[in-house]
Amino acid sequence: MLRLPKLAAGRLSVGVHRIPTNRTRWLCRHLSGGPTPTPPARSPILAFTVGALVSGSVAFAITSSRSSGPADELTRLSSSPANTDSGLNEQYGSMADFQKAIGELRATFPREDVVSTDAEVLEIHGTSDNDYHPGSLPSVVVFPHSTEDVVKIVQISRKYRMPIIPYSGATSLEGHYRAPSSGSICVDLSGMDKVLEVHEADSDLVCQPGARWVDINAMLKAKGIPLFFPLDPGPGATIGGMISTGCSGTNAVRYGTAKAEWFLNVTVVLPSGEVIKTRRRSRKSSAGFDTTKLFIGAEGTLGIITEVTIRLAPLLPTNVAVCHFPDVKKATEAVVEIMSQGVGIQCVELVDDLFMRSTNMYGMSLRKWPEKDSLFFKFQGPSEASLKETARVVRGVSEKYGGFGFTLAGSEKEANDLWADRKNALYSGLALVEGCKGWSTDVCVPVSRLPDLVYETKQDIAASGLVSTIVGHVGDGNFHALILFVTDDELARSREVVHRMVERAIAMDGTCTGEHGVGIGKREYLYNELGAGTVELMKTIKRTIDPLNLFNPGKLYPNKQDTHAHPVASLPSH
Ligand SMILES: Cc1cc2nc3c(=O)[nH]c(=O)nc-3n(C[C@H](O)[C@H](O)[C@H](O)COP(=O)(O)OP(=O)(O)OC[C@H]3O[C@@H](n4cnc5c(N)ncnc54)[C@H](O)[C@@H]3O)c2cc1C
Repeated sequence: MLRLPKLAAGRLSVGVHRIPTNRTRWLCRHLSGGPTPTPPARSPILAFTVGALVSGSVAFAITSSRSSGPADELTRLSSSPANTDSGLNEQYGSMADFQKAIGELRATFPREDVVSTDAEVLEIHGTSDNDYHPGSLPSVVVFPHSTEDVVKIVQISRKYRMPIIPYSGATSLEGHYRAPSSGSICVDLSGMDKVLEVHEADSDLVCQPGARWVDINAMLKAKGIPLFFPLDPGPGATIGGMISTGCSGTNAVRYGTAKAEWFLNVTVVLPSGEVIKTRRRSRKSSAGFDTTKLFIGAEGTLGIITEVTIRLAPLLPTNVAVCHFPDVKKATEAVVEIMSQGVGIQCVELVDDLFMRSTNMYGMSLRKWPEKDSLFFKFQGPSEASLKETARVVRGVSEKYGGFGFTLAGSEKEANDLWADRKNALYSGLALVEGCKGWSTDVCVPVSRLPDLVYETKQDIAASGLVSTIVGHVGDGNFHALILFVTDDELARSREVVHRMVERAIAMDGTCTGEHGVGIGKREYLYNELGAGTVELMKTIKRTIDPLNLFNPGKLYPNKQDTHAHPVASLPSH
């Protein structure tokens, strides 16, 4: 049964700027000489999602949760004996070695603002407001300013066999940067955020890995350059993290995902300490296989990216429309037909009735929508006339599938506000249940299978008695459920629902993660989804490049035991 929120709407209003990354960036600025030691508060909405999960130990140890309840179960799950056999090295230096490593880091970077063991800094780098994984803190955080700095850090990590974890925007959702229990160096690249060169005539630019896609696009707009970078994951995400998670976002239906077409080259510090640049700046190259691609989705396990050339797309006029449907199945069926019309769709996003309720309560646009399963569209075209034509075609197909209340934004401001409602889905969804935490799922199937997958999953969630909003990049067959839980029992039921959803997606020839990546949370599915041969090939590459398994251990590569299947719920036929 849905529990209505008790919090006042005013307290819960959120915007894309109020994300935890701001704290990290603030800390970087502070460590670079800022005057005040008080970090900005976590977003009020997010504070309650993480408070119970944050752990307090500061050095050399995986931290136990401060809270009782769901966090305890999560801690038990992540430290269960099954998580011990990856087939990769797990022998690291001793605590005394790591103390020496920290001393050497301080000697190498004598400036006060580069090496930190401050308790709050460690906490920020080992927890997340955005996910359901328990906190686990690094031993030390280092803030490099250059590729050379990163090389020095890697050499110290090798000398003392101390694991190393790259970190930048901190918006990843599957525990990607949680510290291993051995102790570790967190390398925070968010201060390496400069755009180094803009090549307007070539539609590309060169930047450091901590540059955020939002800032890059704002900079291009401010300079009057009619180009933009179309990959759009969480608003605080950085180019280095986006490559490393193999991200995408709402624009993927038009522009694709984090593939090497968008990343023309990367400069990487390898676990050996060697620096490589994968390609030059030409738009295409057949000079050997695509080594840039090796680092896409590698989750910081193969190297630390320190410079990137990204390709840019022309900025074209856009408009936003919303249409409501009798159910998600009808909505997704409409999408399948709309996508075959060849009109200018930049984004098509599915949201369900509960999402519309949360948006009515906490959205940016202040508009009140029917609480129905709906599609948000972003149209794109070279002229106003082309946008109108796209809107006409989309409206026609939508109405064929029972769509109603088709609303086209009447101004740029209205379009931006409507889109902000969709982009704030995580935060408005979390506001539905007071004191809840959210488990954000991410599966993807061939588009034609999406109606069945979404319909069955929604039925399953309803049968489980949990509260969940559904949003999805349906044009790509990718959708997310944000499952809300407060108690241990709700958490256990959430786990089962998520397992069934993933198994269902894989059975439909899909994937356990369309865009969020593997991290800690999806490792157990890789043998099932990819097969033993492919997983072993991944491990062979990992062992070759990082034989000591120093780079982000415990993520991505599954343990051999992680092969169990979870039963798919038997659901009513339809
Ligand atoms: C509100 C919200 C909405 C979101 N929407 C989407 C979405 O639509 N699509 C989507 O794909 N994702 C989405 N995400 C998830 C997240 O934004 C992406 O996973 C993003 O790509 C992570 O980037 P980051 O800079 O935050 O990386 P981080 O979280 O800092 O790190 C992610 C991983 O990359 C590694 N890494 C970071 N920097 C480097 C580097 N320089 N070199 C090597 N490894 C590195 C880290 O070790 C870690 O394994 C969303 C998240 C939030 C909070």
